[in-house]
Amino acid sequence: MIPFNKPYMTGKELGYIAQAHANGHLAGDGAFTRRCSQWLEQRTGAACALLTHSCTAALEMAALLADIGPGDEVIMPSYTFVSTANAFVLRGATPVFVDIRADTLNIDETLIEAAITPRTRAIVPVHYAGVGCEMDVIMAVAQRHGLIVIEDAAQAILSYYKGLPLGSIGHLACLSFHETKNLISGEGGALLVNDPQLVERAEIIREKGTNRSAFFRGQVDKYTWQDLGSSYLPGELITAFLWAQMEAADEILQARLALWDRYHHALAPLERNFRLRRPCLPASCRGNAHMYHVLLPDLAERTRFIEGLKQQGVNAVFHYVPLHSSPAGRRFGREQGELPVTRDLAERLVRLPLWIGLDEHMDKVIEAITSLFPDGAPLTDAGDE
Ligand SMILES: *Cc1c(COP(=O)(O)O)cnc(C)c1O
Repeated sequence: MIPFNKPYMTGKELGYIAQAHANGHLAGDGAFTRRCSQWLEQRTGAACALLTHSCTAALEMAALLADIGPGDEVIMPSYTFVSTANAFVLRGATPVFVDIRADTLNIDETLIEAAITPRTRAIVPVHYAGVGCEMDVIMAVAQRHGLIVIEDAAQAILSYYKGLPLGSIGHLACLSFHETKNLISGEGGALLVNDPQLVERAEIIREKGTNRSAFFRGQVDKYTWQDLGSSYLPGELITAFLWAQMEAADEILQARLALWDRYHHALAPLERNFRLRRPCLPASCRGNAHMYHVLLPDLAERTRFIEGLKQQGVNAVFHYVPLHSSPAGRRFGREQGELPVTRDLAERLVRLPLWIGLDEHMDKVIEAITSLFPDGAPLTDAGDE
């Protein structure tokens, strides 16, 4: 069976873990954590990159930093991972689910303003599949209404929107290094603080509500409890692993892009015959090949497609159950309108295997897909991009 995902390891992870072990510094914020933070700051331009033990943790930190409290409303898509909403529900806020765009499956920026009420505090755009949301429009709406923007950039490391790295545009952004993402450390994440005024408090929230980070830099002579906080740091063994991935980030990106391009080229004839729709990458975006997903005409066709691939030894999977339709989403959230695009696309989307090492199985995967459309156009069809 060709799996949907297989974590890629560069070969240097264990060596760096051995080095962290030899350093004798196993708690957070040692030499490897510093290297990883500096790399993120260089690659994104963030004022401060704080490593966390997950993207979920980074989202929770963002909710604390934004002073989200009971009764507040936070605008987000329904087509996302649960942590996007949970982080704010934990603070007593109400997620307000807005519909997505049919092309990118990102939040429909033209529907955001209508969802704003006097209780709205934040907008959380999610860059689905590492493709950028319409950030110019979202930032302008946020500025007009005095809202904070928190990018859920869990899937978006090394993607760009209009020449800017995703994660560098909102006031805050959250990254994931979960083993299913492009750069991995098993579990892991980071909070990017782009608004310099939020840096000091972000460090305090991450260090159990203390000013321990300033203490270690020699800026204060003792550290004490200053504010709300929790323990959001990863240990050095995790960041040693992550450092191997960051060093190889450009090769990882190129390898994923090559696989993405191969799907995109091979599936063009099926799209022309209306058998499936390929992902859309707007001209304003440079992607990171986090995911290759296709849309089938309807739920029955999708079920047939996933089953047909499974019979040929290929594991393809669907994605989110929209949060507004989940038991907790109904209990804690509110929908802005009927969310017709979300309802429709969630039933039709399939993610294809995409992992480094898949190249040698790629012919088999593409053959399996095309065999499901026997009357489709031949794959040798020229003239597609
Ligand atoms: C993966 C993911 C998360 C959660 O990341 P963790 O590091 O597993 O906490 C949050 N949001 C989105 C959109 C994701 O894809």
